[in-house]
Amino acid sequence: MTDIHQVTVLGTGVLGSQIAFQTAFSGFEVVAYDINEDALEKARARFDGLVSTYVADGVDGAADGKAQDALTRVRYSHDLADAVKDADLVIEAIPEILDLKKSTYAELGKLAPEHTIFATNSSTLLPSDIKDSTGRADKFLALHFANQIWKFNTAEVMGTSDTDPAVFDAVVEFASEIGMVPIPIHKEKAGYVLNSLLVPFLNAAAELAADGYAEPADVDNTWRIATGAPMGPFQIFDVIGLTTPYNIMSNGDENTKRFAEWMKAEYIDKGYLGVASGRGFYTYTN
Ligand code: NAD
Repeated sequence: MTDIHQVTVLGTGVLGSQIAFQTAFSGFEVVAYDINEDALEKARARFDGLVSTYVADGVDGAADGKAQDALTRVRYSHDLADAVKDADLVIEAIPEILDLKKSTYAELGKLAPEHTIFATNSSTLLPSDIKDSTGRADKFLALHFANQIWKFNTAEVMGTSDTDPAVFDAVVEFASEIGMVPIPIHKEKAGYVLNSLLVPFLNAAAELAADGYAEPADVDNTWRIATGAPMGPFQIFDVIGLTTPYNIMSNGDENTKRFAEWMKAEYIDKGYLGVASGRGFYTYTN
């Protein structure tokens, strides 16, 4: 058991709402912070949606009232000082814009109690890029979740050379307490473990199809049959949604930019965005 009891989540968008809900579902008191009342209204709707999703996906205990119960442990605030006044841990899931993160941490560093740990859920920034703005580099690290955290439940924990090892260990333990499988990462690495593996894998698949070596379905078949993996790379593209990989590939070298253009022309421009739109590399009926 750690000393973490009260958790504040900054940003209640796609990931922040999931992190806040999963934390409350696991029995913690949670404050959901966002910039204004409109954003908090959207957060309420997201949390209501998550209650149904947890039940539909058969998350343990969800159908017995545990998902509905989680809502009673969430307090909403758009006043940062109020939101963090009792926080033992602040998990930040605001947009992936370095200057916005820095200015938010600068303010947060002044307002939060001295003992409060700060964790960023950033996917592409390193905690070192942000640590100086926190005013407490020893209590700052990355805690990176995957989308749909109730079923894809890894939590990659990555500090900087300044992170206090006791803080690192407490966050690893907290991650377990909210039902995640903690993945401790010993040194800073862009992409953590997951994206260090996944991004080159998906780029290799895109090359095979974009350059006409093989059809997407045959690439997937090869991967599934020959390795026993449940999904091939193009099925994974569809689950992620094609826009995010497109953006990542567009920022890469000349080759990956070419794959991005292929994906845009053949799929994205036709509205084939993946599972969420009903069609991507495959067609989905429900
Ligand atoms: P999002 O755009 O869905 O949500 C961002 C939320 O932050 C919005 O509710 C917005 O109103 C709020 N916000 C904006 N400025 C703010 C501020 N100054 N203070 C507090 N809240 C503010 O974004 P997202 O997809 O949830 O991503 C958030 C973070 O999580 C990013 O760092 C991203 O890299 C990371 N992440 C995203 C995913 C994913 O699959 N979407 C997965 C892992 C990590």
